[in-house]
Parts: sequence; C-alpha cells; structure tokens
Amino acid sequence: MELAQALGRIAEVPDFPEPGVLFRDLSPLFADAAAFAAVTDALAGTVDPGVDLLAGVEARGFLLAAAVGYARGLGVALVRKPGKLPSVAGRVDYALEYGTASVELPTGIVRPGQRVAVLDDVLATGGTVAATCKLLEDAGAVVAGISVVVELAGLGGRALVPGREVRALETC
Ligand code: 5GP
Repeated sequence: MELAQALGRIAEVPDFPEPGVLFRDLSPLFADAAAFAAVTDALAGTVDPGVDLLAGVEARGFLLAAAVGYARGLGVALVRKPGKLPSVAGRVDYALEYGTASVELPTGIVRPGQRVAVLDDVLATGGTVAATCKLLEDAGAVVAGISVVVELAGLGGRALVPGREVRALETC
C-alpha cells in the first residue's frame, strides 16, 4: 500500500479529548495490516543507520517502536507513564495545557553513550518528546532523532526540541 493511502486510514475526531481539539486517531491504521506495514516501513526508513536502540513512548509509540525495531533489528526502551514500572531509572515531569504529565524510564535499559531514536505517533505541543529526550539524556544516552507519524505543525512542537532532527511522515 502507498504511504499516502495508509496515512488516510488515520481518523480525525472532532472535540476529543476536549472541545475544539481535532484528535488524530491511529486505531484504524493499526488495525489495517497493509497500512500498518506501509507506515512501519516508512518510519523504519527515518531511523539513522548508527542508532543502537529505539525509545517508544506509551502507548501508541510502543506499537510503532516494536514494529520498527523488528524491521530494523533494534530493541526498544519503553518510555512509560508514571506508576507502571517496578524500578525507575529516571523521571521527567512536564507541563500540559492543564496540569502536568511525566515520563519514566526503567532501570538498566539505556546504557551511557547509546544512540537512541525516539518514536511516537503524534507530535503536538512537543512536551512529550522533549521530556523523553531529557529522560534519555539524563540516563547518558545520545538522542539520535525523533520520528513520528503525524506532526501537528500548528502547535509548534519542534520549538521544544531545538536542534534535533524531527522526521514526520505527515505534517498537518
Ligand atoms: P504533545 O506532548 O506533543 O503535546 O502531545 C503528544 C502526545 O500526546 C503523544 O504521546 C500523542 O500520543 C498524544 N497526542 C496528542 N495529540 C494527539 C492526537 O491528536 N492524536 C493522538 N493519537 N495522540 C495525540
């Protein structure tokens, strides 16, 4: 399947999770084998050759990182929301429009000097990937690129990760 057709499987849901927000729902894309394969191949192509490890952001980033990891022969570090890990190597809190969120890294997964590429489904305000980059660098890793399926350019997320290579399969 062509990438454009695969990306067309993403549903746009108005007023979720709150009024005024147009939510990009990747559920139909993941459920369509050909679309998922096309997006996996395209994302796999955005990961630099020298990368040692992928970091997938909970929860849809897990699916993408797992598929790309298999395609590229790379393992996956799970970047989790709080309260899920038995042993936490590090935690970064970040601001949301209302309130805060956090990401955590399991103990003993990322080694100093490893080159890690970050994968997630959507880049919106950039808070999640910026926090993930800090989390990885706090653990001694080198962030080697950020890859997402969709970038919501109007929200200016790239500004929170200045100087980093951000690759998006679709920008809207
Ligand atoms: P940010 O931190 O960049 O504002 O938001 C990105 C995070 O929120 C990502 O982990 C992503 O999964 C989720 N997110 C924000 N907006 C959307 C959206 O429209 N669709 C989906 N699927 N996830 C979103």
